[in-house]
Amino acid sequence: MSLVTLKYVLEEARKGNYAVGAFNFFGLENLQGIVLGASRRKSPVIAMASTGALKMFGEKVAVATTRALSEEYETDVVLHLDHCTDLDLLYRCVDNGFTSVMIDASSKSFDENIEITRKAVAYASRYGVSVEAELGHVGGREDEISVDERKALFTVPEDARRFVEATGIDALAVAVGTVHGFYKSEPKLDFERIAAIHALVDVPLVLHGGTGVSDADFIRAISLGVRKINVGTELRVHGFFDVMCKGCKDAVDDDPRKITAKIKSTCADIVEQKIAVFENKKN
Ligand SMILES: [Zn+2]
Repeated sequence: MSLVTLKYVLEEARKGNYAVGAFNFFGLENLQGIVLGASRRKSPVIAMASTGALKMFGEKVAVATTRALSEEYETDVVLHLDHCTDLDLLYRCVDNGFTSVMIDASSKSFDENIEITRKAVAYASRYGVSVEAELGHVGGREDEISVDERKALFTVPEDARRFVEATGIDALAVAVGTVHGFYKSEPKLDFERIAAIHALVDVPLVLHGGTGVSDADFIRAISLGVRKINVGTELRVHGFFDVMCKGCKDAVDDDPRKITAKIKSTCADIVEQKIAVFENKKN
């Protein structure tokens, strides 16, 4: 067991008709929890570093730690760079041993997005590293835009076909009604759009903004071609802050391990539960 590519785990997921869980890490305990949770299900997992998390970890520490955990827990782990807008950082992650990177030029024009994404693919593919890119724009809850404005940013199926053909990416993040962060109201996924994109595009689809989406919606999205589902906020808030705040309030002695061990186990529980949903159809 060691670090594996995104392309490999998503191809396995396609054959088995399930999705692989992708979880953001920001510290050692929650990264341990992510790999432990996956190991309990004997499933592969995608550990994602945001550019912010990388500033804290450093590329070399992120790679060495994730590789060690994959061996420790005998679990296949994809080490993935999440939402990278800086090609130099992306190249450094490839050089240092990441097995997957996301180039996010989704806020640029269609042609610029293609141009930047092609550069990422040209570099990463030399080292056998997978590339995810985004077309349309998922955005965050904090973006103060109306529902209609949000819909204007949804991925257009025919554009997706052209984008995938022009770039040679391994996975495509689509904007189909999810947002990053917690939802103010029930998220409404555009399932027809997912199906339409899947019909035209032969790479696996990625759903960002998984925190707060119902299990039933996940299962339906997976049946329509979604193979990677990103969950970040839930681990940050429930897996870390809730545990930390409660731990500090209840602390009766000076043993920090009571809190760090609980962060690890809570993150593992969340990851295990999410993977069980994402593998609903796994044989
Ligand atoms: Zn995202």
